[in-house]
Amino acid sequence: MTLDYHLHTTRCQHATGTMDEYVEQGLKMGLKEIGFADHLPLSPAPRGTWSCDWAMQEEELEEYISDVIKLQKEYPEIKIKLGIEADYFPESIKKTKTLLNNSSWDYIIGSVHHIGPWPIDSSLYLGEFTKRDLYKTYETYFELVAGAARSGLYDIMGHLDVIKKYGFRPQVDLGSLYKDLVKELKASDVAFEINTSGLRKPVKEIYPAPALLEELLKGNVPVTLGSDSHAPSEVGKDFEVAIKLLKEFGVSKIASFTGRTRLLIPLE
Ligand SMILES: [Zn+2]
Ligand SMILES: [Zn+2]
Repeated sequence: MTLDYHLHTTRCQHATGTMDEYVEQGLKMGLKEIGFADHLPLSPAPRGTWSCDWAMQEEELEEYISDVIKLQKEYPEIKIKLGIEADYFPESIKKTKTLLNNSSWDYIIGSVHHIGPWPIDSSLYLGEFTKRDLYKTYETYFELVAGAARSGLYDIMGHLDVIKKYGFRPQVDLGSLYKDLVKELKASDVAFEINTSGLRKPVKEIYPAPALLEELLKGNVPVTLGSDSHAPSEVGKDFEVAIKLLKEFGVSKIASFTGRTRLLIPLE
């Protein structure tokens, strides 16, 4: 069974297409299960965070949830999960938890898109990569991801090494950073996603990088799949690459989620 747990909607202001179109594409791609995981309102973002208006508004959250529930009834031929991609800000994790408290999510994806106020995956601030020590930037980034895992809020850690998106990569071995991160994810009992959107970005590599993926799988961290679709045509995109990779590493099961309970199902 193949699933795609990372679909966005136009509410985040940088995606296109109707939610129906995402579902239709999921069916066309032969997926048995899809999950919407649009960007949670960034209102818990700390004051002073640099331009980050790429999430739904808080008043849109209810409608987002009811739209997913409506689709579940309209398309009984495919499982449609209610997920969300929630930014991790250490300073406001309590507010984020409160915001997510009252809804029946199937899963919550935890993503780090910021180091302090700096949105690291925005093309607007690439200069920061050259102003800072690159290895330290990676170290700080992975510490934040570990902190997100430890927060206990998340089921799936999103695009683990999105810090590489624009191709800024330290020319040294990242093995010890990877090992530390895997230890943290294991201790926190969270899953991670193979996110194929990296293939469509300047770095042209799946998240996570092969060496990190190897560590994660050696450490038995559960894996799931996400396209990070911001357009209907991206649903299930490049999954043949992801699945081939997983099979090369001997993976036969992937993580699915219902009501925040994880279940390993066969990878087809
Ligand atoms: Zn997005
Ligand atoms: Zn993301």
